[in-house]
Amino acid sequence: MKSNIRLGKIAGIEIGLHYSWFIIAALIAFSLGERFHQVNPGWGTGRVWIAALLTAVLFFVTLLLHELSHSLVAQAHGLKVKAITLFALGGVSQIEEDATDAKTEFWVAIAGPAASLVIGFGCLALAAGLGWRPSTEPRMAVTAVLVWLGYINVALGIFNMIPGFPLDGGRVFRAIVWAITKNVDRSTRIAAGVGQVVAFLFILDGLWKFFGGAGFNGLWIAFIGWFLMDAAKSSYAQVEIATAFRGMRASDVMSRGCAIVNRGMSLQEFVDTYLLKTGERCFAVEDRGRFVGLITLRDIGAIPRDRWESTTVREAMRPLEELHVITPDTQVLDALKLMTGNDVNQLPVVAKGTLQGIVSRSHLMQLLQARSELQLAGGHYPPLHRMSRREVTP
Ligand SMILES: [Zn+2]
Repeated sequence: MKSNIRLGKIAGIEIGLHYSWFIIAALIAFSLGERFHQVNPGWGTGRVWIAALLTAVLFFVTLLLHELSHSLVAQAHGLKVKAITLFALGGVSQIEEDATDAKTEFWVAIAGPAASLVIGFGCLALAAGLGWRPSTEPRMAVTAVLVWLGYINVALGIFNMIPGFPLDGGRVFRAIVWAITKNVDRSTRIAAGVGQVVAFLFILDGLWKFFGGAGFNGLWIAFIGWFLMDAAKSSYAQVEIATAFRGMRASDVMSRGCAIVNRGMSLQEFVDTYLLKTGERCFAVEDRGRFVGLITLRDIGAIPRDRWESTTVREAMRPLEELHVITPDTQVLDALKLMTGNDVNQLPVVAKGTLQGIVSRSHLMQLLQARSELQLAGGHYPPLHRMSRREVTP
């Protein structure tokens, strides 16, 4: 979730809005305006819309306070927080590192709902102080705004405590399982599994309400369920990747038989004699035994065909200085992060100026696939990093 509009920084954290937020803000303002108008026919149009708009903006502020609570607690525990983005379904705190212990995870997760509940009950108490009585309609604009903010924040606090990972409640649940099992991967798997069940119930409930005549509300619940399902599934996949590759280094997974071409060759010759014959997608470029760059299908595609004869490999390649290079000791999980963060599909593994091999995303996915097929076959296999060639040949 990327911000489209930057609002500024709080405690070093970039605060931003995604365009989809405006849709929700407008929906809230319109439905509130209508409601205020119905309940208090005596209010003028100006007062109705000012109150409605003010409520929508204050709702945004309270949502931000929810996210800030997560972020500030994370910062206090030494985790880096990059940005907070508000979008149609709420907010996202981009906390760059995962908590390394169950306690931190617990406090970071519970801080948000706790903030919402405090804000919610605070608003209701303030409204009561101004003369509003629970289970009556507020008569003043100020109390109307406070009561709506109060209820919505209490609802937000409770909703987020539903144990569907990756909702806050799911994270709290994961932290508890983590503290009991002392196993972070297992706790994430369990929490993501429960999260999928909760998401499925949301979808069922939403569709049931929709076909029962609830219209938009039903669809909205189903949509939230679908969103949660997606998030729970991707958390599950992330654990699979983390468990498969934890502790492994680039030297364990890199392909060593990397094709090497000379930098002085023309592109035409390179395509004819290497690319079309080997079927490889990525080649290392060397100059007198030293690794100087990479050339991939993408780089060749960027050059018009009629210039292949007059362009050398060196001119078309991406030089070493522009590449993200790793060493044989680099952790595979760090390499994956580097590829995702920079949108590249392969990383050259270099030691002392010479190319040792290439770690590619597609190769890692193949390893993962092979691993899951072996597990599906029913046997118990050692983790990948201990699996030698001998163990898989009969
Ligand atoms: Zn939260």
